[in-house]
Amino acid sequence: MLITTKTSTDRWHRTHLATCWVVSFLLVAVVSATTVSATTVSAANYRVEVEQGGVARWDGDDITRCGMDGKSFAPVDGACWFPIDFRRDLGRLEIARWTSSGLDTGWLDIVPREFEQQDIEFPDDTYVHLSQENLTRHHQEQSVIRPLLRKDWKQPAQFSIPLGTPAASLPKGGGFGAHRTFNGEPRARHRGMDYAISAGTPVTAVAPGNVVLAEEHFFAGLGVYINHGNGLFSLSFHMQSATEAGSTVEKGAKIGEVGSTGRSTGPHLHLGLHWRGAWIDPEWLITKADSIPQVQEAP
Ligand SMILES: [Zn+2]
Repeated sequence: MLITTKTSTDRWHRTHLATCWVVSFLLVAVVSATTVSATTVSAANYRVEVEQGGVARWDGDDITRCGMDGKSFAPVDGACWFPIDFRRDLGRLEIARWTSSGLDTGWLDIVPREFEQQDIEFPDDTYVHLSQENLTRHHQEQSVIRPLLRKDWKQPAQFSIPLGTPAASLPKGGGFGAHRTFNGEPRARHRGMDYAISAGTPVTAVAPGNVVLAEEHFFAGLGVYINHGNGLFSLSFHMQSATEAGSTVEKGAKIGEVGSTGRSTGPHLHLGLHWRGAWIDPEWLITKADSIPQVQEAP
């Protein structure tokens, strides 16, 4: 009895969501004047599992749009990519892909990832208990960064996957998504990957893009923000020198030098990737791109 109820609920839910996608697709179709049939919704059972901070990939012929969280977006390299923030709750999301033969919907299951605990000691209190002046500065900096990372997601992708490495020789990274304490006090989780690289080493752009911000910030130190299109931004922090905002860079171009500016206990490169609102583990797009989970048709 319980199973019957669940099945019918699932069916209703699926039909309901498919209807939503058809409606949003009609809007897309009107806007883009595409000739794709908006009413063909496949009955296939597409599934993928992605860990927190990971990315899923959905291939297909002639993909025109992709959908997740009620929003549609452009494919990259002919495939749909679904980035999942490392703090996102476990559970199931509906995803969609539009091709020349219609709309396919599928399920993405978010599975847990283990994140490390980092307990960091600083010799003084500057970065642990902020003075009023530093707190005001930090809030002001955040008020610039937050809208910046939410802008221009519709710009075409300037990148292909895999991305390049942020330095010519890349050691094993650590600390992505870590829970952290500073001098014993819990602070925000770590949104990027740290690489132990010596000061003065060139930092390189992981993909072509536009340098939208290059500034010294309280926590991040000297940082460079690059917009790569399709809502993907790369952030390189704690540098001792940096390129200027407003410049256009190619993949592999030098954007600065490794340093230890801001809240840092020694020279290292912090690389963050923010893709359409999700902080993801950069390694998925750099060194582990071959292992990105792919949406499969389940029996
Ligand atoms: Zn870091």
